Amino acid sequence: MHGAPVPSPCRRPDALDRRSFLAALGAGLLLPSRGWSLDPGSASTLHALVLGTAQDAGVPQVGCYTPRCDRGRRAHAEGRGRFVSSLALVEPEEERYYLVDATPDITRQIDLIDEPGFRRRAGERRPFDGIFLTHAHIGHYAGLAVLGNEGLGIRDTPVYCTAAMADFLTSNQPWAFLAEQGRIVPTPLDPGVVHRIDPLLEVELWPVPHRDEFADTVAFVFRGPGGSLLFLPDINAWARWDRDVAEAVRSVDAALLDGSFWSLDELPGRSVDDVPHPLMRRTMDRLQPVVDAGEGRVVFTHLNNSNPALDEGGPEQAEVRRRGFEIAREGLRIPL
Ligand SMILES: [Zn+2]
Ligand SMILES: [Zn+2]
Repeated sequence: MHGAPVPSPCRRPDALDRRSFLAALGAGLLLPSRGWSLDPGSASTLHALVLGTAQDAGVPQVGCYTPRCDRGRRAHAEGRGRFVSSLALVEPEEERYYLVDATPDITRQIDLIDEPGFRRRAGERRPFDGIFLTHAHIGHYAGLAVLGNEGLGIRDTPVYCTAAMADFLTSNQPWAFLAEQGRIVPTPLDPGVVHRIDPLLEVELWPVPHRDEFADTVAFVFRGPGGSLLFLPDINAWARWDRDVAEAVRSVDAALLDGSFWSLDELPGRSVDDVPHPLMRRTMDRLQPVVDAGEGRVVFTHLNNSNPALDEGGPEQAEVRRRGFEIAREGLRIPL
């Protein structure tokens, strides 16, 4: 039932895919923007590891046969595809691991956590010390589904989220069953307060305006001994937030921000006021002074399958790089 660490026909292609992906990383073939690298120094201490960078439904999206989705399909076949927006928080010396958002791509993307301690703990069905969830949209929590009986079969794993999100999980199947079985332990955290998660890691929840059909939505600020990171994959509009995004970016060492759409060109017939996400270009306009002054590091994530900034080596990626911003990529490590 549970995958013990024995060779199986399924394992080898995964390993090969991963090696070619990392080889391409090492060769600098996948470096879309300034400052993006696998820093061996930061791999040895607490860091965030980017596990995914796409909008909830992934790249390619189901039934999407545009040239961009077909390129996404080929990238996956070559072991360098994009997964749905997610992070791991890795404490290598302590062998502690956290997942930030549980996506439909979870099965493949957690293979990016290249740590013997993680593999050992997965064998013991306790790979994660905790799972942080931003909100109840499919790209951000549906991955929990394969952590139950049919899949990994985790035990006693805290799921850190808002009270509304915890209530949603314990009130709706199949998530309630995971809680009833003691696989997940929904653990509400009050927003706006610093919570110490372990001796190295602190987190703060910042509510953000978003389409909240089932629960509410937060961004996370993670702080460790070596840095801080804002993870904000979904927001309706910067102007509707009760925080100033420029101040928010200045207050952390790095900010992973909603980069769902590049411009209105992707959304024919829509006005900027009825697009439920900020546009990357407008976000760059807003944050350009912060980046130019060296007061913040802005990395875009959660790219929709329509976003031309997905195109490796394309003019949009060049513009992002030229303006001093970054686009997140699987394997990026951010020190904490
Ligand atoms: Zn999303
Ligand atoms: Zn959402």
